[in-house]
Amino acid sequence: MSWVKTLARPDILALKAYEHAAWQPEFARLHANELPWRAAEDESLAGLNLYPEPQPRALLERLAKLYQVEKDTLLVSRGSDEAIDLLVRAFCRAGEDAVMICPPTFGMYAACARIQGAQVIQAPLNAADGFTLDPKALIGCCASAVKLVFLCSPNNPTGHLLSQEAILDVADSLAERALVVVDEAYIEFSTRASIAALVARRPQLAVLRTLSKAHGLAGARLGTLIADPEVIALLKKLIAPYAIPQLTLEAVLKILSPSHLRSLHRRIQDIRAERDRMAEALSRLPGVRQVLPSEANFLLVRFADPAAALARALAARLLVRDARGYLGLEDALRVSIGTSLRNAQLLKAWS
Ligand code: PMP
Repeated sequence: MSWVKTLARPDILALKAYEHAAWQPEFARLHANELPWRAAEDESLAGLNLYPEPQPRALLERLAKLYQVEKDTLLVSRGSDEAIDLLVRAFCRAGEDAVMICPPTFGMYAACARIQGAQVIQAPLNAADGFTLDPKALIGCCASAVKLVFLCSPNNPTGHLLSQEAILDVADSLAERALVVVDEAYIEFSTRASIAALVARRPQLAVLRTLSKAHGLAGARLGTLIADPEVIALLKKLIAPYAIPQLTLEAVLKILSPSHLRSLHRRIQDIRAERDRMAEALSRLPGVRQVLPSEANFLLVRFADPAAALARALAARLLVRDARGYLGLEDALRVSIGTSLRNAQLLKAWS
């Protein structure tokens, strides 16, 4: 039996997946109980009266090129949020299995695990050493119930990259024992290349990518999981039959053009420049204890009085993220990098 099968929920392996209406565009559709006419106001290319293609081939081809991986290692989902949920549901039995997270980190890993009834085991990042990943400590507390290990790089909310060596150390030590999921939602803003190319030779590794951040398409809701084809096949049994809405498909295919990729590069440079300028300006403000170095499109800022800073931002009608609930960040707020106008307004509110 393959290691994916030994790791996955046995009931999901045994599940006879729902059979969506066959996708055969060369045939007339009298098999999906759709209306044969589109609404008069429907300006979509394919017609919103029809169910969209499940796992659209053209989209998978475009994303395989973008992420430089093979098409059969991809699953597209409604944001990477949905891929996180699918992973937890496919691998964790309620009341028996666990996921491992490295706090302070993105809240969805633990939220999905708890909704599924899976245990959450924490291997905190080393705060005293700039929130580094300690592979030995993680592997040491990785009980056999752990099916998934979530690593976020650049990490939300700290903004720093995890060392690639440490990630691979974890993945190699846990080969065939757990799936190591590296969430690279913010990787485009960083100076590091994606780890996705390594999935082909390390099937115990999976990578999450999204169009929500650097690509500026959060409203389209399109995430991608890059993983071993056997993991992808397993998750296809769980994903909603027509998960990617037709409007999202058409918008993303239109937008992911060569000119978009050129402007993406420029925008990333702009965000990085503005981020570095903001980091410098924030660190000079009274009441700011520390601005953590960031490789993402946000900054984590520690305050002498975070409640007052939050109130002043709100009074200026600016929303920043309260990060005080994260382990070890009881004095921190997270600030997304906005336009220079908005950034200046925030600096003024905190001056
Ligand atoms: N991963 C990380 C680290 C995030 O910060 C976010 C969004 N806040 C997501 C995943 C989810 O992104 P989406 O569902 O928009 O792809």
